[in-house]
Amino acid sequence: MDRQQQLDALSAEIVEQSICPELKAQAIQLVKGAGTPNADIVFIGEAPGKKEDEQGVPFIGAAGKILTASLETIGLTRDDVYITNIVKYRPPKNRDPKPEEKAAFWPYLERELEIIQPKLIVALGRHSMGYFLPDAVIGEVHGTPTPVYVGAHKAILLPIYHPAATIYNQKLRSDFDEDFRTIPGVASASGAA
Ligand code: URA
Repeated sequence: MDRQQQLDALSAEIVEQSICPELKAQAIQLVKGAGTPNADIVFIGEAPGKKEDEQGVPFIGAAGKILTASLETIGLTRDDVYITNIVKYRPPKNRDPKPEEKAAFWPYLERELEIIQPKLIVALGRHSMGYFLPDAVIGEVHGTPTPVYVGAHKAILLPIYHPAATIYNQKLRSDFDEDFRTIPGVASASGAA
């Protein structure tokens, strides 16, 4: 199986095994990762919102517009990277994912990352960062690259603010933009092409 086939099989397994059945029952569909399975850089968000749930594609609403535009500022498109979420069903009314929901999805995210083997993992916000750096506070560590293991796979983790947090907060937006501008340098130091 090639990487895309492995990712498709993983998504099918999540559906078949009824991971988080209450979320699954309320969501329209599972939102898979998008982009290239051969990406050196993976972005991990929190959970799909309304638009993502409707269309089955991550980061296409207001936060997604910021992410897509920010990628363009560093010369990348969504097709050059891989974009996914820790929780793959939309939580009702866009509430925060619960700890048990993140825990249920974590092994699948880990397997997703083991298939892709990224050099750089950009954690968008505290929810996805929390699994790699459980004691870290996003306000303190954003923009600081750290080596992490995903199973046996070693990568660099770059935590940055979640783009949704920056919509009404100019200070967070300028920190987000500043951290985003470091991505090409961090990526090349991590061995990404
Ligand atoms: N926020 C996320 O964390 N993920 C999405 O896919 C959309 C918004």
